[in-house]
Amino acid sequence: MKKLKGWKNIPIGGLILEAGNAKDYITGSWRTFRPVKLREKCTNCLICFIYCPDCSIKVKKDKMEGFDYNHCKGCGICANVCPFGAIEMRNENEYQ
Ligand code: SF4
Ligand code: SF4
Repeated sequence: MKKLKGWKNIPIGGLILEAGNAKDYITGSWRTFRPVKLREKCTNCLICFIYCPDCSIKVKKDKMEGFDYNHCKGCGICANVCPFGAIEMRNENEYQ
């Protein structure tokens, strides 16, 4: 194995050349479970929107509209924090 001498010999890693480029990458493609909204139970409290780590809860005019499945990773946090049981996690295989 080649011995590194000094910082100039460290291999170049990933580079982010422009800010705000996350939307260009479909990072939800490896999801195992997908959240599904149960319309009849949702009160539009938007707690799920606050907690989603991937900003994948769609909101329009103060209403929860659904999910951005291109970026949702299926972590299930939204389903866990919803106080009304209005989000169900379903196996992604059902949608293929
Ligand atoms: S937390 Fe539950 S009830 Fe509140 S907006 Fe989200 S899905 Fe609807
Ligand atoms: S499953 Fe996770 S990433 Fe997807 S919408 Fe819910 S909280 Fe966000």
